[in-house]
Amino acid sequence: MSVIRLPLVVGDASVRRRVEQLFSAMWQVKRALQRDARDVAGAYWAGGVRRERDVKAWRADLGLSRTGLERRAYQHLERSRWLSDHVSKALVMHQADEVWAGVARHLHPDASGRRAGRPKTGTWWEYTRIPGRARSHTTERKWETFRLHGTLAGHLEAFRHPALPPSVTTPAQAAGLAPGMGVLAQPRRMPVPARPAGRIPTKTTDARGRGRSRAASWFDHTGPLTVVFAGGPTGGGDIVLPVRLPQGAGRWPYLLHYLNDPSRWHKIDLVRRRDPAAPGGWTYEAHLMILASGHASPATHARRRQAAALKRVGGVDGNVSNLAVVSLPATLDPDDGGVCSDRITLTQQERHALAAGRRKARGRQRALDRSRRASNPQQYQRSRRQKARDEHRKAAGLPPKAVTVPAGPRRTTATGTPRQAYRRDTLSTGYRNLRARHSAMAASAAEASHHRAKKIAAAVVAAHGPHLTVEDCDIRTWFRLWGRACSATTPGRLIAALAAECTATGGRLLRASTFTTALSQHCLCGRRAPKSLRQRTHHCDPADGGCGLRGDRDLVSAALAAFTILTDPDAPPPPAWTTIGPGPPRSSSPKGCKKPCPSQPHRSPRPRAGPARQPNPAGTPFPGNRRPLLGETPDPAPWQPRMRPDPHPSGPRPKAHAGTTRPHTGRPRTHIRDKS
Ligand SMILES: [Zn+2]
Repeated sequence: MSVIRLPLVVGDASVRRRVEQLFSAMWQVKRALQRDARDVAGAYWAGGVRRERDVKAWRADLGLSRTGLERRAYQHLERSRWLSDHVSKALVMHQADEVWAGVARHLHPDASGRRAGRPKTGTWWEYTRIPGRARSHTTERKWETFRLHGTLAGHLEAFRHPALPPSVTTPAQAAGLAPGMGVLAQPRRMPVPARPAGRIPTKTTDARGRGRSRAASWFDHTGPLTVVFAGGPTGGGDIVLPVRLPQGAGRWPYLLHYLNDPSRWHKIDLVRRRDPAAPGGWTYEAHLMILASGHASPATHARRRQAAALKRVGGVDGNVSNLAVVSLPATLDPDDGGVCSDRITLTQQERHALAAGRRKARGRQRALDRSRRASNPQQYQRSRRQKARDEHRKAAGLPPKAVTVPAGPRRTTATGTPRQAYRRDTLSTGYRNLRARHSAMAASAAEASHHRAKKIAAAVVAAHGPHLTVEDCDIRTWFRLWGRACSATTPGRLIAALAAECTATGGRLLRASTFTTALSQHCLCGRRAPKSLRQRTHHCDPADGGCGLRGDRDLVSAALAAFTILTDPDAPPPPAWTTIGPGPPRSSSPKGCKKPCPSQPHRSPRPRAGPARQPNPAGTPFPGNRRPLLGETPDPAPWQPRMRPDPHPSGPRPKAHAGTTRPHTGRPRTHIRDKS
């Protein structure tokens, strides 16, 4: 399965209004369902006696099931007459299924015993995707909700570039052109194709031998590509949204892969994206899922083939500021190649770009604050300077100056809460536009960082091969402690991209638990070499019986990661113990590693002043309640040591970074003993 984004043209004001109303209606359905789900889940956990007596009956009574939630969705649709002008039953049912997926993650723990928190209600701004329904691949002309009609050939025929050679008539020929040539010339205002009319002869005959025919439908449309939504049962007919395709020949191999074979088209989600430049503030896209893997160019295929042929194994050491990669030949024979190392940090240029971006973001945030203060001056006090000026003027017998932007703190009640909630503030149009620009910039920066991670991952795998091992660290804690540095280097995104690239190249990124291996606290000779987080060089001191190895701390621990062997990379967590070298799996965390290794940030939450609060053991009644009511609510994420390797793709729950591994055979093994 893979997805292509198809930009949609919503040019006409009336069509845009209908699409906006569709999103508004669907968001209200989703919000109603999320509120229902939250209430029912609350009732489910509160009814402890019923739950213990017969959990199935208790759930059935509450209607806490997929069908129960779907039934609620239908009820909302039936009770609200206006909803049926905009949304269809299939759409509402699909939305209920999506909400149920979140509730199911809350009710049932996964393989590692974690469960998601209570269902929440999302906001209007987060609601960007209307899930569509998959098309039937057994029944012809059966595709509910959003459908894609037309063909790529029809699109090429309708919008040929005037300079395109007449010999190019098929999409395959257009995909073979040199990059830089124009294939399409789509007008700024795309014409909306008309629904096919008339009757289409079916190739059957009736009893008298006369040919049968049927009414033409959108399924007979072979012109330009178009997304069609049939609308609600009482609505104003089809919503027809033309698709705008990339026009240059460079993108046509990609289009050919996704769009040339309509039998592979599977499902369409309607997605909106904030765009301050677009009329209405949103642009619309169709995310088409096809039943095939994603597109990779011939150059990518060649690079991956070359990387897969490298007989190398490597280790990766993730860090807040950089990523160290060390690889060596799998045979460990110096004739097969030397040891390679790489360090991925931000370049000077990237640092400058990040600093400039931050400066601009800060400027926008200040402008937003100024605008809010100017629109709601009665909610803010004057600053100390403004007050002092008033007093000086008063002493000089001058009238006080009018203050348009009070610069002091927000006016609060005696308890310290704002006198007026922020959501009730008056906001100017300029404020809204700037806020939209601000969030669009943030989205664009995230996209750029994702792209950078993919490029780096491709380069790393091309140089070190696809068989890598990384220490599995909890990057969320890094973000808690060093958020600013992490958001610049994005270590989690880099490791996720590496895992995806390893899998695509036929290898696998294995994750070894940092709690059992403590790679940065060991030397390559197997000796334990404890060091604090500040110590950036590794030195195995011969005076203490060490081997004398001196080197960069990150590179040494990356080299050590290359030697880590997972006893069972596919074992479901917990406990999947990892060992270095032979010997029985360790039954508990190694000595001297009772607390998290100093090389890794502590798992504890944000450091705070005062004595640490002791969490109540599970099942402790909430103070003030006789019966265990609130204390019984399950902990949404009980802590587990994170040592989950990527699950195998053939497993029951494939994940984005699943892959296969080649067993590391014939490698010398290192004994590591804890001497502490
Ligand atoms: Zn050593």
